[in-house]
Amino acid sequence: MKQLWAPWRMAYIQGVSEKPENGCIFCVRDICGEDRERLILYRGEHVFIVMNKYPYTNGHLMIAPYRHTADLAELTDVEALEIHRLLVVCREVLKSRIAPQGFNIGMNLGQIAGAGITDHLHLHIVPRWSGDTNFMPVFADVRVIPQHLEATYAHLVTAFPESIR
Ligand SMILES: [Zn+2]
Repeated sequence: MKQLWAPWRMAYIQGVSEKPENGCIFCVRDICGEDRERLILYRGEHVFIVMNKYPYTNGHLMIAPYRHTADLAELTDVEALEIHRLLVVCREVLKSRIAPQGFNIGMNLGQIAGAGITDHLHLHIVPRWSGDTNFMPVFADVRVIPQHLEATYAHLVTAFPESIR
């Protein structure tokens, strides 16, 4: 296997990434003033948009409800609708800012399906480019990210509508 330079993986491997007290990185409703650090791009009414710190590709976003639930059937109609609306916003922002040629959009339900966090629902939006799998497996442990996370955050965040908070 080839060695890939992936410095963001070190924080993950060393376990130094911050974890809230209940251990869930998606329970952020009451956390103020840390949106940039947490890579939260947009806060909606019931749902928010965050960048994946360990992305499959550059610009890998996630949409999650504020409410801690693992069960799709427990989403309210209002939450489900806002997830869909923000999904459309994410697609437009990514198209305008980083011009992907396609998207993978979906949820990993359960550890066996690849979910890193199994008890708080989140929808993945993974931008795709021709050739991005030629040198890396999309759903494997080693990924190549050509643009630093913070630079990507700065590039994307201004394209979103102003957050509710
Ligand atoms: Zn949670």
